[in-house]
Amino acid sequence: MHIDLTKNEIEFQAEVRQFFAKNYPEDIRRKQNEGIPLSRADFIRWQKILNAQGWFAVNWPREYGGTGWTPVQKYLFAQEMAAIDAPRVVAFGVNMVGPIIYTYGTDEQKQKFLPDILSSAVWWCQGYSEPGSGSDLASLKTKADRDGDVYIVNGTKTWTTLGQHADWIFCLVRTSSDVARRQEGISFLLIDMESPGVTVRPIITIEGGHEVNEIHFQNVRVPVKNLVGEEGKGWTYGKVLLQHERTNIAGVAISQYRINRLKEKASESVHGGRPLIDDRNFARKVAQTEIELKALEYTELRTLASVAVGNAPGPESSLLKIRGTEIQQALDALMMEAAGYYALPYIPAQYDLDFPIEDRIGHGKETNTSLQYFNNRKASIYGGSNEIQKNIIAKHVLGL
Ligand SMILES: Cc1cc2nc3c(=O)[nH]c(=O)nc-3n(C[C@H](O)[C@H](O)[C@H](O)COP(=O)(O)OP(=O)(O)OC[C@H]3O[C@@H](n4cnc5c(N)ncnc54)[C@H](O)[C@@H]3O)c2cc1C
Repeated sequence: MHIDLTKNEIEFQAEVRQFFAKNYPEDIRRKQNEGIPLSRADFIRWQKILNAQGWFAVNWPREYGGTGWTPVQKYLFAQEMAAIDAPRVVAFGVNMVGPIIYTYGTDEQKQKFLPDILSSAVWWCQGYSEPGSGSDLASLKTKADRDGDVYIVNGTKTWTTLGQHADWIFCLVRTSSDVARRQEGISFLLIDMESPGVTVRPIITIEGGHEVNEIHFQNVRVPVKNLVGEEGKGWTYGKVLLQHERTNIAGVAISQYRINRLKEKASESVHGGRPLIDDRNFARKVAQTEIELKALEYTELRTLASVAVGNAPGPESSLLKIRGTEIQQALDALMMEAAGYYALPYIPAQYDLDFPIEDRIGHGKETNTSLQYFNNRKASIYGGSNEIQKNIIAKHVLGL
């Protein structure tokens, strides 16, 4: 498969490149480069820059403020974003709940929520998983009992990414237990995090970061007008959203950027008197990973082309998720190999732009390599674990 770019596409690529060269904030670039976690304000600032240019809602149709881009344009855009190591946009609003709202929501919901997603005025988080209901999501127990024009919500959501920053959460909740199949009776509800009875508790991940949370709902009153689509049909909407999420997790362009960084790093990193990249065994592993990434890139392009003509991403999103995250984790391991013992120390105070680089332990930014390695163990779990993706492929592709 070979991609020949048209004249328009080449111009588009140049336009994106020029825009990024001019508008990508230097302090965010430095944070990314030095492995310093971004703050809420950093993410919002970058998203606002993209939105001001009309380039934030990449996947949305034009009528709702999206780009209306072709798959090739989206692909080129992602490549240019990765080439400058720009942060990924926070997906929960723009890539997850936004499309659900414009596809299944009421006009009132579209008017209320979509503009705030586009302008990053509202931060969303995703409330699907619960303690005891992750892979077996249909067993979820958070209840929403109807009481006149409100639902009373009780239960606990867990692993809620960046929920500590969120203004709103989209949840799958049980509105009925009197059902033939457990997937029925689940509804898709939008909940204001400011509502009385919502509590957020941090979960600290293995590398010491605060990225995920547990969220408790105690008699939280949610207006019925915040129900998306039909009551009891939330599973269908939630499933569509998960397929989009998995397609996005693959992160092909970012992995390509990381392979290039890895090669640079392995050229500088001297092991046993010669650059690591000259070690045939190491070079073979890098080449193998790059070949696998190329194959994945073409699979991603095929999926994008199919979505562009109106299809929802099907089980191929599971394939992309598995292979994409396997490659990401293989790269994490190779980065660790290239960093060697410089990857070992981890001092949180170093992740501050004002911390003098000469006082950093190891090679400064190398200390982030281990942080990234441990943090990214999550990639094969979130968005539905890779084992579950294999089950989906077995059922829907292989017919087992
Ligand atoms: C960093 C991180 C961020 C996350 N962010 C969010 C978020 O923002 N919102 C949200 O709703 N959820 C989020 N999740 C939750 C994530 O979707 C779940 O962790 C995931 O679905 C697995 O569920 P579980 O943790 O309950 O594990 P379990 O379902 O208990 O699984 C445990 C192990 O058993 C395996 N397993 C389970 N069932 C089967 C089976 N039938 N066949 C084969 N193997 C099986 C699994 O693969 C896994 O290895 C996040 C998770 C992580 C780690």
